Amino acid sequence: MDVRRDSAVGEQGPDGGRKAKKGASGTKGTERTSVKKTAAKTTTAAAKKATGAKKTASAKKATAAKKTTAVKKTTAAKKAAPPKKVAVAPEKATATVEGAAPARTVAAHPPKGESRTALVRRARRINRELAEVYPYAHPELDFENSFQLLIATVLSAQTTDLRVNQTTPALFAKYPTPEDLAVANPEEVEEILRPTGFFRAKTRSVIGLSKALAADFGGEVPGKLEDLVKLPGVGRKTAFVVLGNAFGRPGITVDTHFQRLVRRWRWTDETDPDKIEATVGALFPKSDWTDLSHHVIWHGRRICHARKPACGACPIAPLCPAYGEGETDPEKAKKLLKYEKGGLPGQRLNPPQAYLDAGGRPAPPLGAG
Ligand code: SF4
Repeated sequence: MDVRRDSAVGEQGPDGGRKAKKGASGTKGTERTSVKKTAAKTTTAAAKKATGAKKTASAKKATAAKKTTAVKKTTAAKKAAPPKKVAVAPEKATATVEGAAPARTVAAHPPKGESRTALVRRARRINRELAEVYPYAHPELDFENSFQLLIATVLSAQTTDLRVNQTTPALFAKYPTPEDLAVANPEEVEEILRPTGFFRAKTRSVIGLSKALAADFGGEVPGKLEDLVKLPGVGRKTAFVVLGNAFGRPGITVDTHFQRLVRRWRWTDETDPDKIEATVGALFPKSDWTDLSHHVIWHGRRICHARKPACGACPIAPLCPAYGEGETDPEKAKKLLKYEKGGLPGQRLNPPQAYLDAGGRPAPPLGAG
């Protein structure tokens, strides 16, 4: 099983109306009625929650889940408390990337007691929904060939893909091949790489691996794991990024975003990257792994942030057991969105055409913003 834990698609240092309807249609009739009748109340509740109930959010959530179960099991459903509501931006996954639509209210889907079959279905549904939200998802490092991706991935340690993308044009303009970089003056390379941080160590790495490529592989990046990991400064993580994105070998990128989101979604409780990869990989066909990684990482970077997830603007909120960990007010949540979802430039200076066609904007060159 292929494992990729660093990111050509990730930092290493750092709907729908249809979806809402889907969520609602999956509930019982009483719940749907309750949803309609309590829509206004929910808005008020969300505001209250945003201003004062953060400390008791978890307790409320557990209570709401219990009440929902009771509603289903008894005839007193109408008298029981309504199920937990989720204010969800009904942003149907489209190619339009900017902005968030007004919220709708749908019933949450707590995974308590979720069967293996239900988990697989929910996980795959989340991936399908994310594929619609990010149909243009791609590696966020600029590269034109496997050599550039290898170098960019090494440089992305402890910095953002944006900073790497702003730095590599000058590097590849001066040293376009492994042979060129192998004989470079280290001090000149250091000056180019300075913006990425740890530039002396990174200079040693890229020159060293370029020498190895030139000497041992005819100036070509090898397409096998066992060869890639022999290169100086290239571990399994970097190797899998290259294999997955330059050689089309399926792999799961377990970076910091991936780890955070799959635990929030309760796809796994594991904390070890190898176990996360194995557990999550078993939920999907191997052919889905690379795109799944892109979808999850893109969602983590744009909406489901580490500290302030934008739950109120999240298109998969009806499928998420962690709804409420972040801002649930739709308007406040909308302001937390990043990159194209927030109307901002992306990380790549040269993003794929699909991203531009969808309204995405290129990142600015170094020093331009
Ligand atoms: S925690 Fe919030 S932002 Fe993250 S996936 Fe769940 S609902 Fe969306």
